[in-house]
Amino acid sequence: MNQTKTIGIPRALSYYGNYPFYYGFFSGLGIEIILSDKTTTAIINKGVERVVSDTCLPIKVFVGHVLNLLEKGCETIFVPSLQSSSYKINNCSKIRGLPEIIRNVIDKPFRMIEPTIDKTEGISFKDFCNDIAHNFDIYDENTISSAIKAGWDVYNNFHKMTALGVSYETALKNAIERKLVFEPVTDVKPISVVIMAHGYNLFDERISMRLIKKLEKMGVKSYTSLNVTKEDALNSIRELGEIQYWANELDLTGTAAYYMLNNKVDGIIALSAFGCGPDSLMVDEIQYHAKERKMPMIHLTIDEHTGEAGFVTRLEAFVDMLIRKKRKLLEERKIIAIPQNRQNEKENTKVLTFGY
Ligand code: SF4
Repeated sequence: MNQTKTIGIPRALSYYGNYPFYYGFFSGLGIEIILSDKTTTAIINKGVERVVSDTCLPIKVFVGHVLNLLEKGCETIFVPSLQSSSYKINNCSKIRGLPEIIRNVIDKPFRMIEPTIDKTEGISFKDFCNDIAHNFDIYDENTISSAIKAGWDVYNNFHKMTALGVSYETALKNAIERKLVFEPVTDVKPISVVIMAHGYNLFDERISMRLIKKLEKMGVKSYTSLNVTKEDALNSIRELGEIQYWANELDLTGTAAYYMLNNKVDGIIALSAFGCGPDSLMVDEIQYHAKERKMPMIHLTIDEHTGEAGFVTRLEAFVDMLIRKKRKLLEERKIIAIPQNRQNEKENTKVLTFGY
C-alpha cells in the first residue's frame, strides 16, 4: 500500500461545494492537501483537448485541473464518485462516472483516490470517509471519527458565514483558518437578483467571468444558494408543486424558487453550462414558474468559447430592464426614485435613492 500522505485536489466540481469539509477531514487525518491552481484559459484548453467536444465545460475544466496537479508532481489525486446524495436523489452521469472519465482520458500514471457515496445503494457518507482513510492505511476508528468531526466543523463555520452574507472567498479563507468572522452589510443596493447555478460554475471566477462582481459594479445585489438553507430550498421546490430529483436541485431550482416565492428579488439569473441536461430541465421548470409570476429571468449559458463582451452585453441589458421596471413600479406607488444629488428638490416626497 502506498504510504503517501499528500493528496491533490482539483479545484473544480465538488471542490466548490465540499472543500471546507475536505480541508478539515484531510487535515484531521494528517494528510497534506495540494490544490490545483485557479482556473485559467490554459487549464481549460488542456481539458478541452482531452475530451469529446460535446462534454460540458465543468468536466473539461476538471480534466484540466487533474493535468495541472500532475504537472505539479502530484502522484495521488482525489476523484470522488458522487452517485446519490440522498435516497434516489442523483447526480448526473458525468459526476457519477468521474473516475471512469479521468481513467479514460488521462494516460499518465498516478494513483486515484476514488471513494463512492451512493445513498440509493446504501453506500453512506461514513463509508465514503472510511474508504479515503483506508487508502492511506488509516484504520483507527477514533482518528477517522475525529477527522470527520473536524471536517464538519470547518464546513459548518463556512456556511454560518455565507448564510449571513460573507462572500464565498472570504468565508472559505476564514473557515480554513478556523475563524468565524461576520461582516456588517453596509451598502444597500436598489436592485437584487438570485443566481441559480452550480457552485462550480458560479464561484469559479474564470468560468462565471466574475458574474457576482460584475453585478455588484452595476449596483445589483446577488443572492445564491449559499444564502438559503437546504430546508427552505426543499420546501420551496415542493411549494411550486415540483419534486427534487437531481442532487444539485436545491442549489438551482430550490434557491431560485425560494427567492421568487418570497418576492425577495427583482429578477432571476440562470447560469449553466452549454449541453447540461439536468440544468436545462431545472431552468425550464423555473422559467415556467417565473413567467406565471411575471418575474424577469435571463438564462446565460457558458462554454469554452463564450466571449466576455457578449456575456456582459446581455447582462447589462437585463439589469437595465430591471431598473426600468423597478422605477415604474416605484413611481406607480408614488415612491420616486431619483439620483442622489437631486434629493433636496423633492422635499415632500418619499425618496428611494438609486446609486447611479
Ligand atoms: S450537472 Fe451538468 S454541468 Fe454539471 S457535470 Fe453534469 S452535465 Fe456537466
